[in-house]
Amino acid sequence: MFIGNHLSASGGYEAMGKAALLLGANTFAFFTRNPRGGKAKEINEADVSKFLALKEEHKFGKLVAHAPYTMNLCAEKENVRTFSEEVFADDLIRMEYTPGNYYNFHPGSHVGQGAEAGIEMISKVLNQALKPDQSTIVLLETMAGKGSEVGRSFEELREIIDRVELKEKVGVCFDTCHVWDGGYDIVNRLDEVFTEFDRIIGLDRLYAVHFNDSMNECGSHKDRHAKIGEGCIGMEAMRRVALHPALAGRPFILETPNDDEGYKKEIALVREWAEEEN
Ligand code: FE
Ligand code: FE
Ligand code: ZN
Repeated sequence: MFIGNHLSASGGYEAMGKAALLLGANTFAFFTRNPRGGKAKEINEADVSKFLALKEEHKFGKLVAHAPYTMNLCAEKENVRTFSEEVFADDLIRMEYTPGNYYNFHPGSHVGQGAEAGIEMISKVLNQALKPDQSTIVLLETMAGKGSEVGRSFEELREIIDRVELKEKVGVCFDTCHVWDGGYDIVNRLDEVFTEFDRIIGLDRLYAVHFNDSMNECGSHKDRHAKIGEGCIGMEAMRRVALHPALAGRPFILETPNDDEGYKKEIALVREWAEEEN
C-alpha cells in the first residue's frame, strides 16, 4: 500500500522524504511551485540525490506532484493561458530531476467558453508540451464540476485523452471527493462506477488516487474535502474504495483537512485496512 499526504515543498525534497517517513507515509504529493503564485524555487541537485537515495531505501511509491491552482490551460484571457503553458512546460522539465513520477493537474476552467472549447485548448497544450522522451506521466484530475471546471465527467476526460498524440504520457488521478461531488455514487454503486470508468477511460489509465471524504452530498459539485469517515461518503465506503481491486497498487494521497497528527492517524487507518485484508 502506497499512502501519504500533501507536504510543504519549502524545505526541499529530502525534507519532504523525511517528513513523509515521520507520518508513516511511503509516497506524498507536493506543489511544484507556490499553489497560488507562479515562481518556482531553484532545484538543488544535491538535495534531489539525497532524496532519491531515501526514496529507494524506503521503497517509496510514485510521487504525485500537483500543479499550481493558478495554472488554467483553457483560460479565457490569453495572458493567463500563456502563463499556464509556460508553467506546464517548465514543471515538466523540473519533474525530470525526480524521474518516473506523476504530475497531476486540474484540466482547467473554461470560464464560459464551453466545455468543448476547453477540451480543445487543454489537449492543444498537451500536444505542445509532452515529449516522447519524458519519464513523467501527467495526470488529469477528476473534477467536482464546480463553476466551469472541465473534467467533471469521465467522458470529458476521455475527450481530452482522445486528442492527445502521446497517449502513453497521460493518465487520470481519481479524486474520491470530486468523483462523488461530480455525481458518481461510490457509496452505493462502487463497482458500477469503476466499470464505467473502465469502459470510458480504461482502468489502465488510472494512475493515482486522491483519497478524500466529502462534506457534501453526491452530485453537489461543491468540492469541499472532509476527514476520512467524517463526511458524506463515510468510513465504510471509504474502506471499500481503499481496498477495491480497481485501485490496487496506486499511490493514495490524502487531501483531508488535517494537521500532522490527523494525517498520521489516517495513514495508519488505511494501512490497517490493507493489512486486515491480507
Ligand atoms: Fe487537485
Ligand atoms: Fe484532489
Ligand atoms: Zn478538491
